[in-house]
Amino acid sequence: MKLKDLGEFNFINRINRTIKLSGQVIKGIGDDAAVLKYTKDKYLLFTTDMLVEGKHFHKCDKAGLVGAKALSCNVSDIAAMGGVPKFAVCSVGFPGSLDLKYADELYGGIKKIAQRFEVDLVGGDTVGSGKIVINIALIGEVEKENLTLRSGAKENDVIFVTGNIGGSIKLRHLNFTPRLKEARFLVKNFKVNSMIDVSDALLADLGHILKESNKGAAIFEKTIPVSKYATGFDSAVRDGEDFELVFTLSERYADRLEDTWPFRTRLSKIGRVLNGREGFSLVKKSGKSEKIKPAGFTHF
Ligand code: ADP
Ligand code: MG
Repeated sequence: MKLKDLGEFNFINRINRTIKLSGQVIKGIGDDAAVLKYTKDKYLLFTTDMLVEGKHFHKCDKAGLVGAKALSCNVSDIAAMGGVPKFAVCSVGFPGSLDLKYADELYGGIKKIAQRFEVDLVGGDTVGSGKIVINIALIGEVEKENLTLRSGAKENDVIFVTGNIGGSIKLRHLNFTPRLKEARFLVKNFKVNSMIDVSDALLADLGHILKESNKGAAIFEKTIPVSKYATGFDSAVRDGEDFELVFTLSERYADRLEDTWPFRTRLSKIGRVLNGREGFSLVKKSGKSEKIKPAGFTHF
């Protein structure tokens, strides 16, 4: 059997099934970051992401943007847990023939994001490689009461998304702002029941929340903030790397959230969490409802 026949998620489940965890682990595989015991008031968060030349970026992309993305997608995962990023290690695989200027610019991009989000780069590894590979691991922390898992969605929660969805392939996937300040505002001021960042695709990632929470949902086409760069609604909700936040909270906070939202980043109410038996459906502009099979970006 080949990996591509099994698929990314089945492969990860297969790893997960056979791992024994110590009591230090609050949440292992299966959320945007691992959650570990830390202090009386806080949890430690731990996440990693890898970018491979030819898959996640191309040699012709600006090195500074590639570096910025490598750290930003990790910051986005910490944000999706409600936390604050702290310490990063960065490992690179570079061909010996690589221009030093490229490597400098790549690190320039990493440092820019590190500075903006107050992350300390404290180590890494450097190896020779046929293609350019960048892997960053990031530690963060979160106050226990602010931890937001994928698994906390409650029936009747309102589903929100930040920003615009779709068309990220046209550069934005390399040049996005992780929604850290938005996430921190949310968890400090509201009881957010579940949250994820959109790396796979809006439908796929909301699908992760529903699966982990054992819930269904109805979302409404007319309320989904489709980016002007998207090539239509279907691709917008099925393509990945928007790095926006999808989250759910109780109906009784929804109006106050919309009234007090202090950011220029758009905030859209896109649907409602339902009982698990009701499945996941999309209500089209025509009023017709269709069942969703949450497909998104798969790596194999
Ligand atoms: P995200 O898109 O938020 O970065 P992923 O879809 O990459 O999340 O991963 C989902 C979960 O699976 C995460 O908890 C991640 O840590 C875990 N995971 C992914 N790949 C592996 C792997 N090779 N070994 C162990 N855990 C993995
Ligand atoms: Mg994520």
